[in-house]
Amino acid sequence: IIEVRNLKKSFGTHEVLKDINLTVDKGQVVSIIGRSGSGKSTLLRNVNLLETPTDGDILFHGKSILTDDFNLPLYRAHVGMVFQSFNLFNNLTVLQNVMVGQQTVLNRGADEAKKHALELLNSVGMDPFVNAKPAQLSGGQQQRVAIARAEAMDPEVLLFDEPTSALDPEMVDDVLNAMTALAHTGLTMIIVTHEMAFARDVSDKVVFMHEGVIAETGKPDELFGHPQQQATQDFLKRYL
Ligand code: ATP
Ligand code: MG
Repeated sequence: IIEVRNLKKSFGTHEVLKDINLTVDKGQVVSIIGRSGSGKSTLLRNVNLLETPTDGDILFHGKSILTDDFNLPLYRAHVGMVFQSFNLFNNLTVLQNVMVGQQTVLNRGADEAKKHALELLNSVGMDPFVNAKPAQLSGGQQQRVAIARAEAMDPEVLLFDEPTSALDPEMVDDVLNAMTALAHTGLTMIIVTHEMAFARDVSDKVVFMHEGVIAETGKPDELFGHPQQQATQDFLKRYL
């Protein structure tokens, strides 16, 4: 469903991504792990076109997303993103946050958007807070609203960039549980995470990034149980 081909990204003379190749099939859950600065967020941001690749191509359903006539808002509905810092609209209520994209991008009517939003807020346990503003919520609650908002667009793929790393420890499980439930629905997910136990449990494939390249890829039991590369072994030692 997504294919990254020979992707390169530089900021000035700093080559942050060096020839990345990655295929994500429909229904797959792919976790991306690696040290700070290895290029994980930059890779996701290129896939979501928050950054423009310097070279290479990204295909969605076999078609390049790098063409001039590309419909970016619609693509971002199909390929949504959940950020570390939630990025909710602070002036809108919880319910409005989950409705607005459906109305503006998908042209849904208010009743339909509201019904869909309430179902999704219910599924992440946030239905008691529909009229709250984001500032009144804890980080974990805000992140669950952000997940519901991304789901509301009926995405084919969701990208997650360290969705739990800004949370207090007691909030982390609520968000990971919501993500595990999503993974079990068959949604295609690409997740940058430092939660190794979660990555091992939920992923079909784990990608280890090191200094701008994919140093190793494998099924979770292979990559965590028998890492082949020295860099992978060194990285995973810190989580033992
Ligand atoms: P972390 O685990 O800390 O989030 P990461 O693997 O997500 O790290 P990136 O955020 O992708 O790493 O950053 C990789 C490198 O690219 C870093 O050296 C960073 O300074 C650089 N970089 C990222 N975005 C930009 C930018 N907009 N301009 C210049 N350099 C950038
Ligand atoms: Mg990052």
